[in-house]
Amino acid sequence: METKIINGSEIAKKITENLKKQVENLDVKPGLAVIIIGNDEASRIYVKNKVKTAREIGFYSVLKELPSDCTKEMLFSVIEELNNDKNINGILLQLPLPKHLKKEDFLDKILPYKDVDGFNSYNTGKLARGEKGYAIPCTPKGIMKLLENIEIEGKNAVILGRSNIVGKPAALMLLNRNATVTIAHSKTKDLEKITQNADILICAIGKKEFVKKEMIKQGAIIIDVGINRKSDGKLTGDVDFNDVMEKVSLITPVPKGVGPMTIACLMENTYELYLAQKRGIL
Ligand code: NDP
Repeated sequence: METKIINGSEIAKKITENLKKQVENLDVKPGLAVIIIGNDEASRIYVKNKVKTAREIGFYSVLKELPSDCTKEMLFSVIEELNNDKNINGILLQLPLPKHLKKEDFLDKILPYKDVDGFNSYNTGKLARGEKGYAIPCTPKGIMKLLENIEIEGKNAVILGRSNIVGKPAALMLLNRNATVTIAHSKTKDLEKITQNADILICAIGKKEFVKKEMIKQGAIIIDVGINRKSDGKLTGDVDFNDVMEKVSLITPVPKGVGPMTIACLMENTYELYLAQKRGIL
């Protein structure tokens, strides 16, 4: 059974250890700035882990904390300051933002070559056109790394969830690798029929253990992006892990699956932006 489980933590560790070696002898370190607004508990944990990992690798890391009643002007001014800061190569705006701030307005203020999450219009457009931008979104990038040794061309890939940060970019990345891609969402009819046809099933809906064995194809590869909390406080995914296990050929667990890959890819993106800015190809 063990061999069916893709260990995201191990793969992520290899990525961060490799980055650590690359950074060791650099005089000027890659710089990552993280902006967080308000006191959302989950966001604070994610941000803490990102900053911690960046520092462990040896990056220069800055955390900008703004109050939940922060004005548009305050946030614009922080982004501008970081855009102009030569020591910062990547800027991450932690989402979600408080309701009075529209994320698109701010994501598009981050310079495309400092857009470490790949969320602004320039990098999103490049991905949609199948071209190389400065950065691609970290979670789907991590998913593609988990699928690195798997034949994707011609496979039926089904993605549950159409968010701009996971579902849509994951669909584009799989399409760019010649999968036949279906995106399902909350308005999709006959969902089971669609998921039963998936050779590769990516689950990113945020619904605790939603996917059961009846919904999947024998031998399916399942990537579980969901992070949900059970009543006992433990984390679980969008897939009922124990239930589907007998049918899958490969599956990612929660935790230790996609989560650590997201952070590792954020670090890799920071390093890649640093190299691009150093080479001056802007
Ligand atoms: P969003 O809430 O932005 O999007 C959820 C998507 O799921 C929507 O497209 C929604 O459809 C769809 N959906 C909801 N219910 C159903 C349903 N019953 N059937 C089919 N589709 C449904 O979530 P995110 O993409 O931001 O995140 C998804 C999950 O992944 C969350 O648990 C989140 O915590 C986790 N996550 C994990 C990361 C990691 O590193 N492991 C990184 C980012 C997210 P509609 O559009 O119609 O509303």
